[in-house]
Amino acid sequence: MHPHKNSKNGISCKMVLQAVGKVLRKSKPKPNGKKAPAEEKKQYLEAEFTKTRVVDFDLKELVVLPREIDLNEWLASNTTTFFNLINLQYSTISEFCTGDTCQAMTAACSTTYYWYDEKGRKTKCTAPQYVDFVMSLCQKLVTDEEIFPTKYGKEFPNSFESLVKKICRYLFHVLAHLYWAHFKETVALDLQGHLNTLFAHFMVFVREFNLVDPKETCIMDDLSEVLCNPAPLPAPSSAPSPSSQNHVTER
Ligand SMILES: [Zn+2]
Repeated sequence: MHPHKNSKNGISCKMVLQAVGKVLRKSKPKPNGKKAPAEEKKQYLEAEFTKTRVVDFDLKELVVLPREIDLNEWLASNTTTFFNLINLQYSTISEFCTGDTCQAMTAACSTTYYWYDEKGRKTKCTAPQYVDFVMSLCQKLVTDEEIFPTKYGKEFPNSFESLVKKICRYLFHVLAHLYWAHFKETVALDLQGHLNTLFAHFMVFVREFNLVDPKETCIMDDLSEVLCNPAPLPAPSSAPSPSSQNHVTER
């Protein structure tokens, strides 16, 4: 028994359960009593949720390589930050991601991710096991002084870019699972704004430096489209545009 740990978890667990209970009670069953096919339930695409972000400015400005900063330094610092933030975001719902609730590492578009061990063997694992593999690997890589050097004058290895790509690919899997399997709980905790901001920032970053294959990220393109390209401000009035009134001038 670890009393300090238990009391802390006890409080957060109770609060989260109450919050999730509220959200679950709100959702009405389908009239015919049948469960909707999984592909229909992209709650995260509903306008009510896609408008929630913590910051509302052009994220592209945040990710472009600043002048005077070395590309590898920039990639290292951003990758480490995304690892920490995604790990933290996952930890907010980790008590709902169990071997029972998430028997596989699922994501949108009927995606299931499998873990490949060091010998390249495909391993079947639950989502919490998969996330644990991802986080342990990322932790090991970003704290390895030979790969992510922090000391002045130390060079990045030749494999640096491919390792950054590997980390980003796995972190994307975690984000995709969060949206697919734990969006309801994220909403119950009122953390969807943080998740949306994190996802949009991450996507703009990996696109800027081509770090994740678009074939991987396409399963979340519908959400990326909405979050990474904010809609222009609505027009001041709905009056017909001049072009529709002067349709004869085009001759
Ligand atoms: Zn899960």
